[in-house]
Amino acid sequence: MKTIGLLGGMSWESTQTYYALINREVKKRLGGLHSAKIIMVSVDFAEIEALQVANDWDGASRLLSRAAQQLEAGGADCVAICTNTMHEVFDQISASVAIPCIHIGDALGQHAVALQYQSLGLLGTQFTMERPFLKDWLSEHYNIDVVVPEIDGRNDVHQIIYRELCLGEINPKSRDRFIEVMHYLMEKDVDGIVLGCTEIGLLIDQSMIDAPVLDTTSLHAHYLVDFSLSNNERIALAEC
Ligand code: GLU
Repeated sequence: MKTIGLLGGMSWESTQTYYALINREVKKRLGGLHSAKIIMVSVDFAEIEALQVANDWDGASRLLSRAAQQLEAGGADCVAICTNTMHEVFDQISASVAIPCIHIGDALGQHAVALQYQSLGLLGTQFTMERPFLKDWLSEHYNIDVVVPEIDGRNDVHQIIYRELCLGEINPKSRDRFIEVMHYLMEKDVDGIVLGCTEIGLLIDQSMIDAPVLDTTSLHAHYLVDFSLSNNERIALAEC
């Protein structure tokens, strides 16, 4: 079994979901007392959020690259950035270590291709919905088109993520707003809706909406288990 390196804390509310999902999946696949080999470096999210607001992506990239190097030095066999948003600096983090970085967009893209999906609605932070890093990854590597909510929907989803979900607050009114925005995306004839922020699964699940939901936290966690239990590095190296 290979050791999974989690670059977590963004926010810790979703990192604990990664930890639980990965361990549950390893137990399911191997049985008995088996659990995942994991090393985690968990950053202070307030520092990351301040760098995002300041548009200091180089600063964020340096901070996260140091964290990735700590994972490597500690014996991790891969690095997983446990947030969609900070894949903005995936290339820099990936270049800072010799071990593979496992992109959240590969976990999502491969799952969507297996289901023959060609068009996806995307919910996430404004960075994820408006910047190209995830949308382009999906279109360039998987030929998938991405639709995002209109400006009011993007603003509301972004605010709910930072003011509530990253603080562990679950608010029924916010859930209603998310469902409204998801209905807007469904009207665009998408094949499924991506929970493209690792905290959204704390608020929304498949039972709340008729369209297929693709939760990036769950897909990334399962993909990391595939890597950990596989005998080769094909999964991780495919798109890095
Ligand atoms: N966890 C979130 C994401 O998946 C947002 C927090 C962050 O800005 O990293 O994008």
